[in-house]
Amino acid sequence: MTFSGFELLKNALNGGAGWTPHWRKAQPKAAYDVIVIGGGGHGLATAHYLAKEFGIRDVAVIEKGWIGSGNAGRNTTIIRSNYLLAGNIPFYELGMKLWEGLEQDLNYNAMVSQRGVLNLCHSDAQRDAFARRGNAMRLNGVDAELLDREGVRKMAPYLDFDNARFPVQGGLLQRRGGTARHDAVVWGYARAADRRGVDIVENCEVTGLRQENGKIIGVETTRGFIGARRVGVSVAGNSSRVASLAGLRLPIESYALQAFVSESLKPVIDCVVTFGAGHFYISQSDKGSLVFGGDLEPYPSYAQRGSLAIFADVAENAMALMPMLGRLRILRSWGGLMDMSMDGSPIIDRTPVDGLFFNGGWCYGGFKATPAAGFCFAHLIAKGEPHPAAAAYRLDRFERGCVIDEKGAGPSPNLH
Ligand SMILES: Cc1cc2nc3c(=O)[nH]c(=O)nc-3n(C[C@H](O)[C@H](O)[C@H](O)COP(=O)(O)OP(=O)(O)OC[C@H]3O[C@@H](n4cnc5c(N)ncnc54)[C@H](O)[C@@H]3O)c2cc1C
Repeated sequence: MTFSGFELLKNALNGGAGWTPHWRKAQPKAAYDVIVIGGGGHGLATAHYLAKEFGIRDVAVIEKGWIGSGNAGRNTTIIRSNYLLAGNIPFYELGMKLWEGLEQDLNYNAMVSQRGVLNLCHSDAQRDAFARRGNAMRLNGVDAELLDREGVRKMAPYLDFDNARFPVQGGLLQRRGGTARHDAVVWGYARAADRRGVDIVENCEVTGLRQENGKIIGVETTRGFIGARRVGVSVAGNSSRVASLAGLRLPIESYALQAFVSESLKPVIDCVVTFGAGHFYISQSDKGSLVFGGDLEPYPSYAQRGSLAIFADVAENAMALMPMLGRLRILRSWGGLMDMSMDGSPIIDRTPVDGLFFNGGWCYGGFKATPAAGFCFAHLIAKGEPHPAAAAYRLDRFERGCVIDEKGAGPSPNLH
């Protein structure tokens, strides 16, 4: 079934009786050409592009829970391509272009909303750094605007401009940035991949990676062995655990990150705002809830939950920036698992095991990367060579000293 105005009207008149499930409940076959481990946004996007762009349809996505149960369904939905470094800009801009055509490509309403991402600066030095980043973006054909204090005031009059410690001095705006509905991105990719014949196997955990003579030959799962010529690992916060099944030790640590959502308000914040003097970012969902987050938990963990200390920190940041939030009621908070790499940038590469490919190390930035990561990972699996836009994301860059450290935080994963 294709979504169209006609289908909407028809189903509105017949009580929705014509809607069909978006994807089949596939049972695993004995073997596939390609298995993608992880039914998050990245794994499903990889399967979609494998089938659509590279004609590889004998593909299964193996997910231990239900699709979107990981970070794909837990993030704060921000998309942007406002990066500084040469290794990152082409990749994230490819992603932004794919976001711009995503709904037509998938025939699915992913609620992509280019409402603008505004990074606030609070000191002269920070403004200079923003000017430098904005120039790098523009030199690479990415939109960027440096706003002065009055320019920011026009966009976001509710900020505490004269906060004694962190007065707002200006901001870097990417108008093409914004948000997308995270669940819908998962469902849209799943539906599109399924329509091209991809099997989406849920409730099936990969427990082993079987090799023969240094080559991958399939995966052990809670539903038995499934053979495969090629296997792509795309499991976000579980990267180190799954890679260890093949005897690999990755330059990655996992940390929990929380997100918070408030009661619904009338429209008040019409773009994404990030606080430059602390770690805090906020936007308003189409339902009216304010959606916001801050720092990682301070210690590595595989627990998908966070501590009260981080909640207190996020609340302090919120109050410094928008005192009106002091009267806000929080509805829910939750945690997801971040695979933090040593330089804060991702890895999309072959592994030392023949036929085993890896996509991970996404840190805070993996949702916005979903289309580009899926596209580039599919390219890598199909052709055996990295896509030019992801050429810098090699596994050996740490031993070569070619790190892509956007924040300049050094080899401390939790600081990126
Ligand atoms: C609170 C929070 C806020 C965030 N906000 C943003 C944001 O605003 N913008 C942004 O760009 N990024 C954000 N991120 C990061 C982003 O969500 C992730 O980087 C991205 O979703 C990771 O890719 P994914 O969607 O494929 O991961 P996931 O959805 O986590 O997919 C990985 C899947 O692998 C499965 N899996 C794991 N182990 C196995 C196994 N052994 N066998 C089978 N399946 C397995 C998991 O169940 C999971 O479904 C945020 C993350 C969190 C936690």
